[in-house]
Amino acid sequence: MAATSKSDYVVGVDLGGTKILAGVFDGATRCVSRSKMTTKAERGAAGVIGRIVRCVQDAVDECDLTLKQVKAVGIGSPGSVDSEAGRVVFAGNLGWNNIPLRKELERRLGLPVVIENDCNICIIGVHQEEFAAKPRNMVGLFVGTGIGGGLILNGKLFSGAAGMAGELGHMVIDVNGPKCTCGNRGCVEALSSRTAIFRRIQDEVKRGDKTILTEMLGDALEGLRSGDLRKALKRGDKMVTNVIEDAAHYIGVAVGNLVNIFNPELVVVGGGVMEQMAEAMMPIITETAMEGAFNGTTRGLRILPSKLGDDAGITGAAVLARRLSK
Ligand SMILES: [Zn+2]
Repeated sequence: MAATSKSDYVVGVDLGGTKILAGVFDGATRCVSRSKMTTKAERGAAGVIGRIVRCVQDAVDECDLTLKQVKAVGIGSPGSVDSEAGRVVFAGNLGWNNIPLRKELERRLGLPVVIENDCNICIIGVHQEEFAAKPRNMVGLFVGTGIGGGLILNGKLFSGAAGMAGELGHMVIDVNGPKCTCGNRGCVEALSSRTAIFRRIQDEVKRGDKTILTEMLGDALEGLRSGDLRKALKRGDKMVTNVIEDAAHYIGVAVGNLVNIFNPELVVVGGGVMEQMAEAMMPIITETAMEGAFNGTTRGLRILPSKLGDDAGITGAAVLARRLSK
């Protein structure tokens, strides 16, 4: 294994349903430049792949490098990913079926590429870069547009028989709950994701409930973002406080279940929603999880917010690219 120097650059890419993030990382896994682009999934796989290539080129150009100075590219894709074959088997939010993403990117970038599921890259990023102790058993939940999850068991990413393990967001919390995008009812994603939180607030506004969000954004709540919820919480808005406390409670139930199943040393809760509202949500998540967890499982257990936020994905993708380049 060759030692890495600071000039050993890799690129990490986080491909999402709405945006593409690319970051250039040096040999010490520090992000030295980044680029962001909308995905435009409606343009089809070829269009999206073209945009990924441009996003990578922009990030590399931004820090005055060329692709020739980059060793490898790692990319996290939503959906079911066969990382050995380098294919995205299925990604509902992109409308992709069996797309040879690795081969296409390698051809267009002229660099080795590794692909992995987007939640798996987040847990790898958090595990490798955020916790120096490298916990052997760790569970991650990432709360954003949806809720993703990842598992590090016995020191390694656990991906299951068909690479599909870790769909922790689709853990059913309430069998009579709202319908989820996956077809089940009451998944934690259908209760506590940003989409679920926004939908509930919109429903309550339609019913005539009061919130300062309508003063901030109008009755249609146009352009509502997680940051607006944080402001409403700060100003003591009752409706938003209730909705966020409920969302945190459901995540806490999910974490309690996960603690009982996996007995991890560490549970990390990350993603864009947590980045904005960890202060309000973490105490409820922890308290609910501790109530639900069995006695023996909580000894030494830590439940923490991730500090990497939206950068967890590009960081984990860079970690995989680095492994590939060695
Ligand atoms: Zn679901």
